[in-house]
Amino acid sequence: MDNRKYNVVIVGYGGMGSYHVQLIEPIEQLAIGGVYDIVDYRMELAAAAGYKTYPSLDAVLGDQDVDIVLIATPNDVHKEIAIQALQAGKHVICEKPVTITSADFLDIVEVAKQENRIFTVHQNRRWDEDFRIVKDMISKKTVGDLFHLESRVQGANGIPGDWRQLKAYGGGMLLDWGVHLLDQLLLITDSKIESVTASLSYILGTEVDDGFTSYIEFKDGLTAVIEVGTTNYVKLPRWYIKGTEGTAVIKDWDLSGEIVTRNPDVAHVEPKPIQAGQGLTKTMAPPSEESTLKFPIEKIPAAAESFYENFVSTIEGKAELAIKSEEVHRVLVLIETIFEAAATKSVIRRDI
Ligand code: NAD
Repeated sequence: MDNRKYNVVIVGYGGMGSYHVQLIEPIEQLAIGGVYDIVDYRMELAAAAGYKTYPSLDAVLGDQDVDIVLIATPNDVHKEIAIQALQAGKHVICEKPVTITSADFLDIVEVAKQENRIFTVHQNRRWDEDFRIVKDMISKKTVGDLFHLESRVQGANGIPGDWRQLKAYGGGMLLDWGVHLLDQLLLITDSKIESVTASLSYILGTEVDDGFTSYIEFKDGLTAVIEVGTTNYVKLPRWYIKGTEGTAVIKDWDLSGEIVTRNPDVAHVEPKPIQAGQGLTKTMAPPSEESTLKFPIEKIPAAAESFYENFVSTIEGKAELAIKSEEVHRVLVLIETIFEAAATKSVIRRDI
């Protein structure tokens, strides 16, 4: 028996729009109701994959059989499509970054409220295993009380050669990958932000940033380095986490890495000095084997609900949205603060 109830139309059937098919199809209560893209070739691909194609956005929005609109277009048109879809009575899922400014996002939230429709943003990296392991490790105090973390993604392939290189489309790496890393960061502590410094990189000569580094201090004392690079032929670890009892490193999405902690059962053993370059050092010697414990990075059980399962539960009034408007707004305010800190080369003290 077919239990599917909600028809999702994908608006923007490019790289990510076509990937959403894989996320939607396994969900029993969802069906792909069709596709709309402004490029004929993309529509031909959708038709070849067996999906209904719509000749215009109006045709999508005028179809009473469409329950949910998934927006996977370039960033600059998210807002106008989202507002039109909400006003046509559709629930809406929008790709990240939802909008280019925090004010634009609030306009969408207002319309969703007026229309009594569910609107959310596909901050899918909250479900990433590496992030979920980090969150788990922090809540269990595996490395003691967290006081510093570094979260990075680095590649050597530059900015993809599409709209991501153009400012008018909301391109640049802060809006692209930055929105994921900052969203994750803000879920790691309950504390508010105290201050932000940042620099954007323009190594490739594009009109948008090809990467950035931001140093963020929280009111509870936690410090964080968030970095995105597209000119890194050798990468630094994905996560570097320091707590009062140890350090954890997750090198990559393959979960390679390790956790090293103080051994609570052994009194501190002074390390022996090591030869370092032209000198000796005890300070920078590795901690003694006896006084430390080493653990591998271990997998954790899958999340209870996927992004789409949560969306369906929310439509049916059985759950709250996993990705809340206040959280999305806070990330956009932080992004604006990072742009400002970089442009003014200053420390921005702001209660975010
Ligand atoms: P893309 O260029 O591959 O695809 C965008 C598609 O939208 C194209 O087929 C284009 O023809 C179409 N399009 C453009 N304007 C349109 C309009 N007005 N109406 C209908 N279709 C239109 O880009 P992409 O990499 O798929 O990125 C799309 C969105 O998904 C962006 O917001 C991006 O940030 C996001 N994204 C999210 C993730 C994630 O992990 N959450 C990953 C990649 C991309």
